[in-house]
Amino acid sequence: MFRIVKRLHLDKKFHFKVSFSTYSFTDYFKGFEKVEAVKRIFGEKTDEVLHNLRIEFTPLGGYMGVNGLNGHLIVNPNYLKSGDRLDVYLDVIHELVHIRQFMEGTQLFASNYSYVERPTEIEAYRYAVEEARRLGQSDERILEYLQTSWMSYEDLKKLARTLNVKCN
Ligand SMILES: [Zn+2]
Repeated sequence: MFRIVKRLHLDKKFHFKVSFSTYSFTDYFKGFEKVEAVKRIFGEKTDEVLHNLRIEFTPLGGYMGVNGLNGHLIVNPNYLKSGDRLDVYLDVIHELVHIRQFMEGTQLFASNYSYVERPTEIEAYRYAVEEARRLGQSDERILEYLQTSWMSYEDLKKLARTLNVKCN
């Protein structure tokens, strides 16, 4: 799937450094330019976008996201280091969809929708779920991926239904 080529050091110095530095996406995530799902997201611009994409590491909460001000990928280094490999991989696919949405000028955090009904989220989850299926993952495993600590069971069911993922 992909390799993480640099080990992260979670000492105070690192925390201090991350707030002022950005890192190259392709230094940390190798091979994404060859993933069909990623090529579908960016088309012929895939290489160029991934080459220019910057990462901001922040240990403060969450897993991964997009900085709505500059389009950088935000990554929690603790998650990158110890998160489930498949979850991390699918999250990268999900966030790359948000990167494209950001580049198109789409409002990523439209507050007139709940999280699980927001069109930008549904599009991002569709790519991640499709990729999980291509990798042969079961609906049960995909549901596990969709479940996050801050999502209610009702919201999880709603999201699963939208994405045609079985939820018992
Ligand atoms: Zn999202």
